[in-house]
Amino acid sequence: MIDPFGRSVSYLRVSVTDRCDLRCVYCMAEDMSFLPKADILSLEELERLCTAFVRKGVRRIRLTGGEPLVRRNIMTLVDGLGRLLQTGQLDELTLTSNGTQLAKYADGLAKAGVRRINISLDTLDADKFAAVTRWGRLDQVLEGIMAAKRAGLAIKINTVALRGVNDTEYDRLMEWCGQHGFDLCLIETMPMGEIHADRMEQYLPLSDVRAGLARHWTLTDTDYRTGGPARYMQVAETGRRVGFITPMTHNFCESCNRVRITCTGTLFMCLGQDDAVDLRAPLRSSEADINLDQAIDQAIARKPKGHDFIIDRQTGPAVSRHMSVTGG
Ligand code: SAM
Ligand code: SF4
Repeated sequence: MIDPFGRSVSYLRVSVTDRCDLRCVYCMAEDMSFLPKADILSLEELERLCTAFVRKGVRRIRLTGGEPLVRRNIMTLVDGLGRLLQTGQLDELTLTSNGTQLAKYADGLAKAGVRRINISLDTLDADKFAAVTRWGRLDQVLEGIMAAKRAGLAIKINTVALRGVNDTEYDRLMEWCGQHGFDLCLIETMPMGEIHADRMEQYLPLSDVRAGLARHWTLTDTDYRTGGPARYMQVAETGRRVGFITPMTHNFCESCNRVRITCTGTLFMCLGQDDAVDLRAPLRSSEADINLDQAIDQAIARKPKGHDFIIDRQTGPAVSRHMSVTGG
């Protein structure tokens, strides 16, 4: 699949549910209303959708959400996609998770062929963790992370840089990741969805964070890429990498290779634009995939050049949907 700007689309992100057992302050409002259950694709339908994309050239799939591991029977989908790994139709199956359910699922994920996992962790301070997730318990997540480590999964910790929340903790997170053999990836907050909070107050440019880190750590540029938008640096003291995802200070669209589907079968060609294509109707219209394939082709032909996120007080969120709908 080649888009109008010559970019090859080989990476699919699938938000398997918009629901979550946490309510991170930058991601969701406390009183979120979720998609009606009736609109949500079954796991079988999601697998059929993923298989259609694989047939069209997608080589990597990331399951995300909401929290992917709170979707009931999620392992049915993971195992189904794992079979595409075995047959060589897919190169990689990964997940982004908040870690709360990993103690239960880590072994099963590894068995299905998952080799890498991104786990979100914004702070190592139990009180701050409870505040930033509104409902979360740090010990439960740490237990999940250690279960994933024991299962042999390569772990990347995703940390959203939040002014006034974790801005004194990046050195500690670097050290902790180094001790456990994890990579760390820092993310700028993006203006997605109404969260009843002031994003200007939360927003912290990663250029500042990087300058702070460079005072204590020897960072060298690398050309390591994971297929995602992060730029990585090698950390000499820990032997691990630190990545920076800077949608606000550095537009990462020129190398975008991905599209996203929601749990209702809506295809978003860009995380930061509202244009979307419904794939549920063509999926359900026939057991053959002709209509679906056609709808996918038409959508890829509409993939926009990029996003135009701006954080300021006047404009509100750049897109009205929350990150949990399209997945991070
Ligand atoms: N629940 C899972 C988790 O937290 O990892 C997967 C979904 S979550 C939406 C995916 C990633 O998006 C997380 O790393 C989260 O921190 C990040 N995220 C959520 N809202 C964001 C926002 N407004 N700006 C930047 N990152 C955001
Ligand atoms: Fe849930 Fe992940 Fe959003 Fe936090 S960032 S509320 S864990 S979906």
